[in-house]
Amino acid sequence: MPLTNLPIIIIGAGIGGLSAAIRLASAGQRVIVLEANAAVGGKMSEVRAEGFRWDTGPSVITMRHVFDDTFAGRLADYLTLVPVDPLTRYFYPDGTRFDALANREAMTEVLRQFANADDAAGYLKYLDYAKRIHDITGGVFIYNDPPTLWRVARTPLRDMPAVDPLRTMHGAIQSFVKSPKLRQFLGRFATYVGASPYLAPATLNVIADVELSGGVWYPQGGIYAIARAFQRRAEELGVEIRTRCAVRQIDVRDGAVTGVTLADGSQIAAAAVIANVDVATVYDKLLPRAAVKPRRVAQLTSAEPSCSGFILLLGVEGEHPKLAHHNIFFSSDYRREFDDIFARGVPPDDPTIYVSITSKTDRDHAPEGCENWFVLVNTPAVDARFDWATQAAAYRVHVLERLAAYGYDVRGKIRVEKVLTPVDIAGLTGARRGALYGASSNDKFSALRRPHNRARDVRGLYFAGGTTHPGGGVPMVTLSGKVAAQMLLADLPDRAQRG
Ligand SMILES: Cc1cc2nc3c(=O)[nH]c(=O)nc-3n(C[C@H](O)[C@H](O)[C@H](O)COP(=O)(O)OP(=O)(O)OC[C@H]3O[C@@H](n4cnc5c(N)ncnc54)[C@H](O)[C@@H]3O)c2cc1C
Repeated sequence: MPLTNLPIIIIGAGIGGLSAAIRLASAGQRVIVLEANAAVGGKMSEVRAEGFRWDTGPSVITMRHVFDDTFAGRLADYLTLVPVDPLTRYFYPDGTRFDALANREAMTEVLRQFANADDAAGYLKYLDYAKRIHDITGGVFIYNDPPTLWRVARTPLRDMPAVDPLRTMHGAIQSFVKSPKLRQFLGRFATYVGASPYLAPATLNVIADVELSGGVWYPQGGIYAIARAFQRRAEELGVEIRTRCAVRQIDVRDGAVTGVTLADGSQIAAAAVIANVDVATVYDKLLPRAAVKPRRVAQLTSAEPSCSGFILLLGVEGEHPKLAHHNIFFSSDYRREFDDIFARGVPPDDPTIYVSITSKTDRDHAPEGCENWFVLVNTPAVDARFDWATQAAAYRVHVLERLAAYGYDVRGKIRVEKVLTPVDIAGLTGARRGALYGASSNDKFSALRRPHNRARDVRGLYFAGGTTHPGGGVPMVTLSGKVAAQMLLADLPDRAQRG
């Protein structure tokens, strides 16, 4: 039963917003989702042209259990998640390659042949190490309310070394495998939160456990099927979703949320508000100046962002049987690549290039005899040191040249193409500076510094999405919506009483 007559408003129909809507509506609350764009999904989006179809944002889906939980055990009624095998095909500049497999024994054999028996054994030890981090930190940093120093301090002393917060990811990886190629492969998981393996704390090796042991999943029909499924579930539960409906301001009186003002000036009163918008943008643009402390705004807007991306959606003529669904073409100097991104603030001169081809799995995503390539290069977030308006065309040529050097020269075979720069990502999704995963995870305190799901200074305001706890990535923002909804539900009786 709703505890007040007023609806709960969710600003933004990204995955975090929709996840919160599902949780609140399941608990009997009246929920209205207001989305500025014409369609739901936020960073999860799709594009169609000339018989091709691409997902434009996320492409690798892990943590299947999070989706099972969201659909309360009825996932199969909404989504068909198929395992991706191999997880990813890795290519190196010297012409060697290997397939990463979720099956432990099979993968050990792959690595024994690709590297050597010692590194294959080291890989197994690394997997056990990453799993232990997941087991110890999952409850504190991922699956429950935001971490507090008190809860972190209650981690048994004997477990602390296993959490490994003092080394970098790369520092830890070096202690397990000697092959520079395998170090590059394992370090790559830092990019799943937009970080550098040479800066991010070793605790983030947990990401490798999630993928290499938990597997990668692909929703039949494309990644956007997840957004559609969330929308369907929410609407079945009675959630009202209004698209093309931008919120201009979160209304606040006496330190408490009273509702929202829309771009057209109309107002909607609300019992509470969940913002599925970048938290820094909420403080900087959506909350009335009088309701927030300038110091808090400055703190949020000056945080170092995670990396952004340069994307080519290519409708390619011809088929490439040696490519898999997910492919990585590594750079020759990984450290330099991350220095370019995080220290020099420029897109890497020698980038690692990710190519995802969903038509390998869903044949109808490209016309007969063609493939739909989603090409992604990690870049800095929008930064004065690089002007995408004048340099995107040259960088596109550069990326295509690097692929050609790898033996995949598609320059004469592109039937249709769309280029997305970090500036486009910022414009299309509202991501601050186009950062894919909110604030950077490059330092050991980032998980503790991440904005809380319950606003500290405005009662009745909550946050869900990649810039709040537990962080970015599709499963994580799904969890974030759950945490925000649980907090709101716990507070609601008190708010209803105050009137
Ligand atoms: C290129 C790219 C690749 C990625 N790859 C992966 C991957 O492989 N795997 C993975 O798990 N994750 C990946 N991610 C990250 C993942 O997509 C995000 O973490 C996640 O989708 C963000 O969800 P969110 O809930 O934070 O909402 P967002 O997607 O940020 O959506 C927020 C919504 O709020 C709306 N909004 C903003 N302001 C207003 C307003 N004032 N009024 C109304 N509506 C408003 C926006 O229009 C938007 O729809 C990738 C992201 C990108 C961009």
